[in-house]
Amino acid sequence: MIDLHTHSNASDGSDSPRDLVLSAASAGVRVLAITDHDTTAGWAAAAETALSLEQPFTLVRGTEFSCVYVDNAGHRIGLHLLGYLFDPEAGALRTARAELRENRLGRGAAIVSNLVAAGHPITWAQVEAIAAGGAVGRPHIGQALLESGVVSSVDEAFADLLADSSPYYVKKQDMPVENAIKLITQARGVPVIAHPWARSRGVVLTEDAIRELVEMGLLGIEVDHLDHTVADRERLAELATELDVIQTGSSDYHGNRKSVRLGAQTTSEPMYRRLIGAASGIELIHSDRR
Ligand code: AMP
Ligand code: FE
Ligand code: FE
Ligand code: ZN
Repeated sequence: MIDLHTHSNASDGSDSPRDLVLSAASAGVRVLAITDHDTTAGWAAAAETALSLEQPFTLVRGTEFSCVYVDNAGHRIGLHLLGYLFDPEAGALRTARAELRENRLGRGAAIVSNLVAAGHPITWAQVEAIAAGGAVGRPHIGQALLESGVVSSVDEAFADLLADSSPYYVKKQDMPVENAIKLITQARGVPVIAHPWARSRGVVLTEDAIRELVEMGLLGIEVDHLDHTVADRERLAELATELDVIQTGSSDYHGNRKSVRLGAQTTSEPMYRRLIGAASGIELIHSDRR
């Protein structure tokens, strides 16, 4: 199985990078991408673990970038862009990651202060402790709400208090997607749009907007994702074929913060080959037993 989109506790997953790799290997994943939000902090520990495995295993290092697309009418549409195998030392992209993480801190604190003002018994210190130095996101605030007994699951928090439509919600200052595509490409990585039609999360890109991104250098579309309907997957697959870009499938695993399991959706071998063929920023990490 090839699973190209997963999270560790370097961002809003619950498994350490080491546990993520070990769980993937025991779940039968042969190629795993670690793609934490706006950070490469989990790469080293994941790589060390992958190298030590006694079974064939390949680690693809990547990041999921928080981006925004502004349409002709000036509407800002948030989206996630996966960047694979880019050079982590490339300066401009590195600065962008740091800014995105910094913004996550201020924005997380703002959501918490809105919740506190409404009488919910959580604190920013509690959320920081849950995030434990990882890129802060709403799932950490959801965990604090759960631990304080305000909700009975993180899902429940997302359905209401943490929803985009909630009065407590604060937007992130995301990176313009055209910049992100350019910076990932300059760092010799591969930009792939994550779950473009995850409609339950809010307004999504139109087909024309996706075409525009491909013209800007987008190289792939995440087609098989649990947040996509069957009809949307079919249409995205057609679009990817028409635009001649890579199609991926992945779990978007977040440990115990989401119910999805590793390898729940997968990428085909030919598409994976195309993806790694398009990258030259850094190498794949193979276990000795490859
Ligand atoms: P943020 O990045 O802070 O805006 O939070 C969005 C993150 O929350 C994304 O990574 C999603 O994968 C995650 N997310 C969305 N819905 C849920 C949910 N119901 N339970 C847990 N995590 C979720
Ligand atoms: Fe996430
Ligand atoms: Fe995402
Ligand atoms: Zn993700």
